[in-house]
Amino acid sequence: MAHPSPEKPAVLLVDDRADKSLALQCILEPLGYELLSASSGEEALRLLLSRKFNLVLLDVNMPELDGFQTADLIRQRETLKELPIIFVSADVSEERLQKGYELGAVDFIRMPINATVLRARVSTFIALHRRTEQLEKANSELSEVNQQMQSFLYTVSHDLRAPLRSINSFSKILLEEHYASLDEAGQDLVKRIASSGIRMDKLLSDLLHYSRLTRWEFNLAPIDLATVIKGVCENVREEIKAVHAKVEVQEQWPTVNGNEVLLEQCMCNLLTNALKFVAKGAVPEVKIWAESKGGKIRIFVQDNGIGISPEYHERIYGVFERLHANHAYPGTGIGLAIVRKAVERMNGRTGVESSLGGGSRFWIELPKG
Ligand code: ADP
Repeated sequence: MAHPSPEKPAVLLVDDRADKSLALQCILEPLGYELLSASSGEEALRLLLSRKFNLVLLDVNMPELDGFQTADLIRQRETLKELPIIFVSADVSEERLQKGYELGAVDFIRMPINATVLRARVSTFIALHRRTEQLEKANSELSEVNQQMQSFLYTVSHDLRAPLRSINSFSKILLEEHYASLDEAGQDLVKRIASSGIRMDKLLSDLLHYSRLTRWEFNLAPIDLATVIKGVCENVREEIKAVHAKVEVQEQWPTVNGNEVLLEQCMCNLLTNALKFVAKGAVPEVKIWAESKGGKIRIFVQDNGIGISPEYHERIYGVFERLHANHAYPGTGIGLAIVRKAVERMNGRTGVESSLGGGSRFWIELPKG
């Protein structure tokens, strides 16, 4: 059987009477679709499984398999679940309509047929069906590209670390054993190689960590926020001390649904940022608390730091997105990307309220535990 060009929608007309089928063809011809006929439910099914159609016009009254039984069989096929079916019938009583819609009909056309109505309905459903198909296709292409990107990211970050390790070990040996024998320019160069190597390794390990987040399988369970926050403050204790920060933490904590390891990582990233992004000489003041609203818990980390202009509030969540030079505020630009991805994987949301110079309030929202 010759296949039509994919641009031309195809309609299947199912009627046991050749004269009625011909009449339908004459009415639909001006729409420019490909029109095929089947004279029984069995033949219709065979055709539907052999090639692609965008719509079926199904006569209800047919001997052997009637229109309803045929529709029932069509809907049982996974690939035909979304195919629009329009019934054609002289009897459009309430009972028949209900039965038809239950079987997955999108519409009924009453006999005798009004040509204008039929053309309008057929073209509307074809347009809808094609749009849905295009959307589904775009969606599946996107998720495939996304998956390829993730595995590319993983391979790159993983494989680049091996040669980098050699560079780092050799520059370490140069620094430790041959430094004195180099002239001043040579010493400066080897120091730069060593520090760039360390930075590169940090970038790659953060990137690897980020890409692992996508693949990691974990369970969601109720977690006690008090334990998580306590653990985070414990982990960051040295950094807090080093900058003499004041960190105020709420006493009572609710339970959320999530993953403890991921949430600890997120809170740690937010807290270290709050300690880091302060004006030179300023003492960081950080507040951490939670609010409950409609089945969700929102955890806030607020600082008195340099703040972020609203046009960057979304951008900073991207991988490698940073608003400052590394020498002013060191970092890799992956911390917030990890927060966003991890929170999404826990079925939550994250965001920030901030203005330039006015401090920031980062939040994570998760379902109640
Ligand atoms: P990193 O901290 O390694 O730079 P992040 O992904 O954690 O990377 O943050 C991205 C950028 O967002 C930072 O470089 C900074 O410009 C901005 N940012 C994050 N947290 C804060 C904060 N608390 N105050 C001001 N700016 C922030």
